[in-house]
Amino acid sequence: MRALTEVTDAELQAAVTARGGQAFQARQVAHWVWKHGVVDFAAMRNVPQRLREALAADFTVRGAALAKADDADDGTQKLLARLADGETVECVIIPDGDRTTLCVSSQVGCPVACVFCASGMFGVRRNLTAGEIVEQVLLARSRLPDGRQLTNLVVMGMGEPMLNLDALLPALQRIHDPHGIGMGARRITVSTSGYPRQMERFAAADPSYNLAVSLHTADDTLRKQLVPTASAPVREIVAAAHRYFGQKGREVTYEVVLLEGRNDRPQDAQALVETLGALPCTVNLIPWNPVEELARDRGLRRPSSPRVDAFAEALRQGGLKVTVRRQRGADRSAACGQLRLRHLDAAGG
Ligand code: SAH
Ligand code: SF4
Repeated sequence: MRALTEVTDAELQAAVTARGGQAFQARQVAHWVWKHGVVDFAAMRNVPQRLREALAADFTVRGAALAKADDADDGTQKLLARLADGETVECVIIPDGDRTTLCVSSQVGCPVACVFCASGMFGVRRNLTAGEIVEQVLLARSRLPDGRQLTNLVVMGMGEPMLNLDALLPALQRIHDPHGIGMGARRITVSTSGYPRQMERFAAADPSYNLAVSLHTADDTLRKQLVPTASAPVREIVAAAHRYFGQKGREVTYEVVLLEGRNDRPQDAQALVETLGALPCTVNLIPWNPVEELARDRGLRRPSSPRVDAFAEALRQGGLKVTVRRQRGADRSAACGQLRLRHLDAAGG
């Protein structure tokens, strides 16, 4: 059965009228799905029972359900969603002052296989559907404490969003739509490991969302080691990012996951300054969040704070704007991909 979260407004209207209902009733159903976040038809009180039953014979309201919730002491919540076919994906709610950011996944696993990332350890199982991406927002919204609202969305969970644009773009449209979730496009950021052609398609989308590029290094040889399969040259990735976002007066965020001795040396900072120094951008440094298996098998290490500070300072000296990500939810499997990894371990899968 299809979930209503997968159905376009036109399809919903056709489904309602085919069952003897009227167009305004399709809008009422949609309102229950997106605004009230109900999970079953019985809760749609102003929709006639006959119509509800006729819809329930062919549709479910949602496709995914909450499998597990993990609360960290700092208010971070990691949610594991079980999809209709039994696969799982995670999303993370990150409260920070007045902001509440939700990090969602775009694929089950990831095909890019970055050396430091838990999501890429077992390859990609499949793409998420548009409904499965939006449902992470519905699930998260229902778990917020009273008075909290989701203010920001980042597509930085499991998966490479540029390799699933067919589902991502309609999902973002729904998240942005005032009749859907209703989140401003400027509050939505998509992170990519760097696919120039797909970045251009993404940038052409209307409305325009923010883009973050996981660059990690400005050196092509080193990048090939860290991000083995996203193999476009750095200059092409950077050019694609700025061609559109630069024209719109938007800044690009470059993410650099710092690994001790690999990409946090003075020459690595210098190469970033040379490549990005003249561009409207911010560099977000992310000290690697250790993944036990990868630390052990690949000898990866998180750099010490003084090393991170020295790297940040070298970039600033070169004229770059720099932020350093604080670790959040660190007392539980923190980085994206790790909750699912622990879950798979426990399930022996
Ligand atoms: N595939 C996309 C989006 C998901 S990953 C991308 O790579 O951009 C989101 C961010 O988390 C990326 O910047 C990625 O480099 C970072 N990341 C992945 N594993 C990490 C880890 N163990 N520690 C710190 N950052 C990590
Ligand atoms: Fe995939 Fe991003 Fe992880 Fe790389 S960092 S394996 S692109 S999810």
